[in-house]
Amino acid sequence: MDNKRARIVIVGGGFGGLFTALDLGSSYDVTLISDADHFLFTPMLYEYFSGEVEEWHIAPKYTELLDEGVNLICDEVANINLDTGTVTLNGNESLNYDVLVLAAGGVTNFAGVAGAAEHAIPFRKIAHADQLRSRMVEALDHVAPDLPPQDTQRALTFAVVGAGASGVELSTKMADLLRDAFKRRALRGEPRVLVIEMGDRVVPGMGVEIREFVEDALRQSHVEVHTLTRVVRVGEKTLVFEHNGTETELESAAVVWAGGVRVSPLVENVQLEKNNRGLVLVKDTLQTIAHANVFALGDIAFYKDAAPTLAGTAQLAFQQAGLVAKNVKAFLSGAELQTKHFEELGEAVSLGTERAAVLAGGKAFGGPLARQARFALYTARLPTWHHRLRVGASWFFEGTTPRPLLPLGLQR
Ligand SMILES: Cc1cc2nc3c(=O)[nH]c(=O)nc-3n(C[C@H](O)[C@H](O)[C@H](O)COP(=O)(O)OP(=O)(O)OC[C@H]3O[C@@H](n4cnc5c(N)ncnc54)[C@H](O)[C@@H]3O)c2cc1C
Repeated sequence: MDNKRARIVIVGGGFGGLFTALDLGSSYDVTLISDADHFLFTPMLYEYFSGEVEEWHIAPKYTELLDEGVNLICDEVANINLDTGTVTLNGNESLNYDVLVLAAGGVTNFAGVAGAAEHAIPFRKIAHADQLRSRMVEALDHVAPDLPPQDTQRALTFAVVGAGASGVELSTKMADLLRDAFKRRALRGEPRVLVIEMGDRVVPGMGVEIREFVEDALRQSHVEVHTLTRVVRVGEKTLVFEHNGTETELESAAVVWAGGVRVSPLVENVQLEKNNRGLVLVKDTLQTIAHANVFALGDIAFYKDAAPTLAGTAQLAFQQAGLVAKNVKAFLSGAELQTKHFEELGEAVSLGTERAAVLAGGKAFGGPLARQARFALYTARLPTWHHRLRVGASWFFEGTTPRPLLPLGLQR
């Protein structure tokens, strides 16, 4: 096969798919298929939600990132036939591939909790952040300044399910934004933000050094932490949870689901070898077990030589993309495929609108300085030099101040 003319199809344009496409470049016949027209730098979706960053910073259009020679299809892949080497799009159009790179990522896992899929807001996309913000503004707009504190709090109670990194980052941002809104609108009392976690601690996957900063930030942001607590049911404006055998029902203006991820439905239906969690089994070269021309990476793949804390992270998908691109080239030219040990690149969690905690080189630090360090770190991780420079300049010169939850009529 002429390796420059071989058809390489990449499904999914997140950390795994986009960075593979960028590494392969336009000297190959590459087609990237994504159901969105933009990449999303998920680690900063919280800052987008709070208005510290803008949409273009973290969700650049693929057309601004990809080489002109890379084919881009913005559509959902409905089906993959591994026998015929065909990818079928939602609109029924089909494409043939010589090499397939599967990087379709995950979706929110509501774990079968009654009412969760219908009523809880997931937090994985720009649209989810917009939906949550609107729900908060709407709830605030319904509260009059002279309402008694206990009624105000009842109307402005929000719950986040899951106290992993996502749950604590989001709940601290929500709490800070709400407290700021209380001051601006001269409301009485305090808002209430709960984070509900089945396990016995917050951020279970993180080391003790960083957990101290997280727990401190939760306290400072007045987030109510409920561990060893299970969400039983979610209603339109209610939540039922259980702790120690006792069920509690709560009024809640919004319930956000940050409680788990499962592989994309597309991958669930593809006939590849998987583990009991539905993750695609891959060799050390990131090829799937029975198909040498099919690679899988990121959140959908089970790669055994990666630290458990790296599983399901952008750090892993991003590093794997480099290996996939190398191995696709090697596969097409008949060279030997490589393997790699993937490293932890450190941790950085945003905590409320004024603080963060960063773990780098085995040392953890927190506070406003860590917030600045996180912005600097993430500038370097954005895709392409051009985008990094534009965003870095915007953050440096225009600042990263949160956007308050102003009444609907006063929003710009
Ligand atoms: C809010 C949030 C914050 C996070 N913060 C961090 C963090 O701080 N650090 C960290 O390391 N990780 C973080 N993660 C995890 C990280 O985002 C994922 O591990 C990473 O994105 C996985 O990369 P991926 O390429 O496997 O999947 P994704 O980046 O999810 O990309 C998959 C892409 O495929 C597309 N797709 C799916 N199905 C189809 C289909 N049928 N047809 C076409 N396109 C399809 C999706 O829309 C998506 O664009 C966070 C995740 C979220 C949701």
